[in-house]
Amino acid sequence: MRYPEISIRTKVIAENAGKVVSLCSARGINVWGVTKGVSANPSVAGAMLDGGCAGLADSRMDNIRKMRLFGIREPMMLLRIPMPGEMKQVAAMADVCLMSMPESISMLDKACEDAGTKVGVIIMVDLGDLREGIWPDGVAVMAEAVSKCRRIRCLGAGSNLGCLSGVLPTVTNLSLLVSIAREFETFLGYPLEVVSGGATSSLPLVEDASMPPGVSQLRIGEAILLGTDVSGGRAIPYLSQDAIRISAEVVEVRSKPSLPIGETGSDAFGNKPVFENRGIRRRAILAIGRQDIRPEGLAPIDKGISIIGASSDHLTLDVEEFDGSIRPGDVVSFSPDYGATLAATTSAYVRTRIIES
Ligand SMILES: *Cc1c(COP(=O)(O)O)cnc(C)c1O
Repeated sequence: MRYPEISIRTKVIAENAGKVVSLCSARGINVWGVTKGVSANPSVAGAMLDGGCAGLADSRMDNIRKMRLFGIREPMMLLRIPMPGEMKQVAAMADVCLMSMPESISMLDKACEDAGTKVGVIIMVDLGDLREGIWPDGVAVMAEAVSKCRRIRCLGAGSNLGCLSGVLPTVTNLSLLVSIAREFETFLGYPLEVVSGGATSSLPLVEDASMPPGVSQLRIGEAILLGTDVSGGRAIPYLSQDAIRISAEVVEVRSKPSLPIGETGSDAFGNKPVFENRGIRRRAILAIGRQDIRPEGLAPIDKGISIIGASSDHLTLDVEEFDGSIRPGDVVSFSPDYGATLAATTSAYVRTRIIES
């Protein structure tokens, strides 16, 4: 049994990484490859490093542990501000950690003391997306927390945009980040190497050369994996969108009416789907569902195929306008977005196939 499957072309990932890295390095910015989108698949992580990424970054310690177990020794960054319950693992396995709470900094310092290690921290600043980070007037408190630690070094300041509220990176908000980093230097009394200016959504500022000077690092996942930038709503023209595909097997093909028959309540997920009457149409069912993917994040590769809906284990397609024959055992492929990729690599039921070409 091979399907459902997510296939990943590591050569394409390495090429995408290489292009992002050379674009950024021309502006003095280094790139950390973000692996969470593929659940830190070690081959993909390796391809990011082959493409020139300075290190690997992931939001989960489980993923960092996995990459370490696969023998990857390059620098690793924990992207999600750490749980107090995982400081021991952070101290043992991460080189860099994003931070936003003073008490977490002292907990990590204690864990490093016990483990005999050192971790660099990047202080997160909330520039308006309202996820993690200190308010711009909170520099003194954080600088004081870091100064008390013996095993923690403040590497710099960072920010995350575009994720929770969709706030876009701009010259204005990233200039504020650079000036906050300078303020940290004044409090700490040593220069900071890192101003970590965001993720894929920050690339437009590098492309049009408007990135504020001083921003020295980006943490990039989506652009390298998928060649897209969801917050800017674009396919990035100089990158490939072909690295990752999700495929599933057809289990039924029948012509059926486009309107349900009978009284309708909610679907299996509590939604009330609305259908348009388009007469009798040919439909196919694929053996993949919400337990494996985010159906809203799949784009069929073949023309004439569209998604009608999904339950936990079935994905229903309209194939009326598909030119070819389609029957049980045939395989239909999709280009996934970030959410669908994340879900597929996390599902225990989807096999990951690495294609090394
Ligand atoms: C996921 C994540 C990134 C990478 O975002 P992309 O949009 O995939 O480039 C960067 N920073 C943090 C804190 C993240 O959680």
